Amino acid sequence: MGKVSIGLRGWRFDEDDLFTEAGGWKPLEEIPKDPRHRLVRLQVVMNKPCDACYLVHGDEEIQRCRPASIVYGEPLDEVLLCDEHEADFLFWFRERGGASIAGEETFRDAFHEWFDDGGRAPDGYGGMEHVEEAPEDLPDLRDPEDLYEGEDLLVDERPDFEEDAAEDDAADADDADDEGEDDLSVDDLDLDREYPT
Ligand SMILES: [Zn+2]
Repeated sequence: MGKVSIGLRGWRFDEDDLFTEAGGWKPLEEIPKDPRHRLVRLQVVMNKPCDACYLVHGDEEIQRCRPASIVYGEPLDEVLLCDEHEADFLFWFRERGGASIAGEETFRDAFHEWFDDGGRAPDGYGGMEHVEEAPEDLPDLRDPEDLYEGEDLLVDERPDFEEDAAEDDAADADDADDEGEDDLSVDDLDLDREYPT
């Protein structure tokens, strides 16, 4: 069974969970809950700023933040990172106790606190080859369903980049007739399929 990353690096999906034998997307309701949560969550967090960049630059200088290209953690407690800051996260995960709290609700906050206190990977930590292999190293996490039952996967406190916010508003207006989770369709998900090399 092949694995794919969708939209952002980091989270990986079993192809059989997502695609029909003909290679098309399965309807969302036929995708198992865990990958479906991630898929829905990806749609929310794509095009958001890297968490680490945002801690450095804040709202005032949000245009200096790089867009996230990598996602780790569980839906609603995910960490978003750009390529530059991935090494800092991996160092924290492997060497500063991050792995020991994977799947817990404090996961993201703990990384943010460490980074905000000046925590950084040593120079040269995690060359690209090392980094590319990292997503498969994440341990199996607790079933997110019992962690996040009833929480809204579509809510995110992260700010949008300004032009993205405008686009989102336009998209929301288009979807106004079409609300409700039952109407969610993979056709609404604008996600690139990215196969590992
Ligand atoms: Zn960054």
